[in-house]
This record gives sequence, structure tokens and C-alpha cells, in this order.
Amino acid sequence: MDILYFFFLCFYAPIGLLYGEINESFVFAIWGTYGSEANEFAKTLPLKYLIFSLSSIVLILYFYKITEKINLKSRKTIIMLMVFLLFTALTKPIGIATTHTFDKSIKLFKQSYDDVKLYANTKIQPQWKIERIQPKYKNFVVVIGESARRDYFEIYGYSVKNTPFLRQVHGTFVDGYSTVGLNTIPSLKFALSHNGNLNLNIVDLANQAGFETFWLSNHGKFSSFNTRNTLVAKRAKSLYFLIDDKSIKEKWDTYLIHKAGEILSQKSDKNRVIFIHTYGSHPKACMRLKSKDHLNYTDKKTFEINCYVKTIEQTDNDLRLLYEILEANRQKTGESFSMIYFSDHGLTHNYKKNPIQLAVLSNPSKEHFGIPLLKISSDDTERKMIKNESFSNYFPQSFAHWLGIKTSNFNEISNVFDAGNQEDSLNAKALIKNPNPDPAIDISKQ
Ligand SMILES: [Zn+2]
Repeated sequence: MDILYFFFLCFYAPIGLLYGEINESFVFAIWGTYGSEANEFAKTLPLKYLIFSLSSIVLILYFYKITEKINLKSRKTIIMLMVFLLFTALTKPIGIATTHTFDKSIKLFKQSYDDVKLYANTKIQPQWKIERIQPKYKNFVVVIGESARRDYFEIYGYSVKNTPFLRQVHGTFVDGYSTVGLNTIPSLKFALSHNGNLNLNIVDLANQAGFETFWLSNHGKFSSFNTRNTLVAKRAKSLYFLIDDKSIKEKWDTYLIHKAGEILSQKSDKNRVIFIHTYGSHPKACMRLKSKDHLNYTDKKTFEINCYVKTIEQTDNDLRLLYEILEANRQKTGESFSMIYFSDHGLTHNYKKNPIQLAVLSNPSKEHFGIPLLKISSDDTERKMIKNESFSNYFPQSFAHWLGIKTSNFNEISNVFDAGNQEDSLNAKALIKNPNPDPAIDISKQ
């Protein structure tokens, strides 16, 4: 057992040195992410940490070899080991827990394994009780962004002009929306399902109300394993995963927008909801960029931030394209539309790295949870900036309201697009582990 424990520590060491103590998100990321993401995760580990890890293994083997010469059963050695175990079980020396981490990982891995088993056997049985359906528009599009922090958007006050489309289009922009999860899976759990109940997911709400539903994704499918989010995605009547499309080599989000255009060009008697799950500003931001403009940036320390800022410009561009496709379709067919964009969660600055990076870390500040939320409809005539304090677990009821569906599943609708404060009913504020601010880095002076 002890050798297993030491080997675990050796393997975990590079991750621990970089990201800190193990947490739920790392474990769920293993099940919930996919080949390419796991590969990228490995690439973010600097070589020196990997060497550190490998040399620890070599040293342990050497230690085992020489222990024949040391009396492990001596009182002195046993006392030293006991003190070590007690010390590491209760505290986190040099910022990385040892016994504590081992124990916690076993529990988290078991929990995630139970989840994978659970979702393999989960059959969703929609439980929406629909009373009335009065859609205001013909086509509805939900664009789910990835890892985009609100404070890095020009329209929310960021210093670099990276949202030229959103800056001038008519619509409703919410300033005060927060996610209730640290990373993709827990964040979308409550944004896609009422109270996290899979039988009350928003795709089935649209299905049951007679809408045609489409799910277009630039995220992977994790072989035969489901996460709760892929379960919801698969409820859509039509599915398209970019990763499966062999005709497209480079997997840019823009292809999903064109795919939405193809769907819209086909006539339908029904109202439609198209979900577009993008890759947006996912960590390793420089790899997300189609254009090579970011290479002109000269400050080494904030080079990655420059890429991140540009991913938001790229998202702005994709939203412009989507808007233009919807508008061209409206002019041709008379079909009205409304589109919503939000990001699943934000990221935290990792100042330990040079250049500084943005990642999911275990000590997030408030800014990690502040996400953009906006709505652009074909009948909008002005720009509205709504100041509120709203939470992503209220998204399902706001979605129902947007689609014009009245259900008896909600006592009353608390809409994330309305001004005013919503109750933090899931105590999302407890996710904030660092009370200090972690503000966006201003790169406009570079
Ligand atoms: Zn995410």
C-alpha cells in the first residue's frame, strides 16, 4: 500500500506543483473531457515538473533497494513515520497535501466512478408539465461559451476593444450574472437542468413543447461514458459533434455557426431551438486562435493573456456571423429569431507561470464566476445594459420564459434577464476560495 501511495504522489506532484491541491474539477475533467483536452492538459505541465516526478520514482526505487540495510522496525523510524503521516494528514506542507491529498483523491475518484456508472444506467424521463406555449420567435439559438470571463469583454468595461460586434448591436446585456460551478460539468449541471434534475432538462422542455431541437458541439464525446451534460445534449432530436466530422480538419467553432445556417436553410413548420456548445476561450488560449495576429504581441509575461483577449474577439466574430445568418434568413423567409450567449464559467490567473496563464485553479476569486450573458432578438430596437445579481441555476426558468412556455414546474419565474438581485439559493458564493480580487490584466498599454 505504501508503495502505491508514494507512486501516486510522484505522479500527482507535477499537477500539484502547478495547480495546487486536488479538487473535484480535476477528477471530473478526467471523465468528462476527451482525448484532445487530456492531451492539452498534459502539455500544460512544464518539463521540469515531469523530471521532478520521474526522479522521485527513481529515488523511491533506490530507497527500497537500500532499506534492506536500514532497520525499518526500529522505534526511531516508526516514530518518524508516524509524525510524518500525522503532519501531512492534518496540514499541507509547501502548499501540496500528501496523505490528505491521497485520501481525498481516492474519495473523489470513487465518487466520479460512481457517477460514470450512474449515468451509464440513467434513462431520462422528462417530467415537464406544460400549461401553455406561445413562442414569440420562430428560431431560438443558445450559444454556450467556454471559459470566458465577463471582465475580459470590452462591452463589460475591458480596456481592449475586442467586441466590435456586441458593442453596437441592439440587445440585452446582463452585468451581474454568475455561474454556480467551478468548471464545465458542475456549471452546466444547473444551467441545463432545473435544480440539477436530469428529468427537468431544458432540451426536453423544448421537445415536449413541440420545438425541433438541435445540439451542435465542438466538445468531444467521451467514448461510451456519459457525463450529465452529454446526456442532456443527446436528448436533442438532431445531434452534430464536430469531432466526428472527418471532412473538417481544424475544429473551429465557426463551423458550428455554418452548420446552424444549414439547419436554418431547411424549411420547417415547427419552431426551432439550436444549441451551440463552443470551445471558445478554453485554456491554452493561443491554440484557439484562427488568426496569427496574436504573434505580433511583444510582452512575454502577458503573452497568453493577449491570446485570451483575442479568443473573445473571435467569439464576437462568431456571434456576428450567427446574427448575420439569422438576419439574412429572416429577410428571406420572414422568420423571426432570438439568440442568447453565455459562458459556462470563467478562469483564474496563474501568476506562478511565466507567461501568466488563465486556468481552473482550486483557489478562485469572485471574478472566476462572473460570466457574460446577453440576448439579441430580431425585434430589438435598443441596447439595454441590465445590472443585476443573477445566478446560472435560474437559467432553466428563464429559458422557459424566453421560449414562451408556461409550466407548473416553477412556482414563479425569476428571470436572469431582469434587473434586481436573485437569491443565491445554492450558496454559490461558497465556491469563492480566495477573498482577494483577481482582476483582469490590462494589456492595452503594451
Ligand atoms: Zn468550461
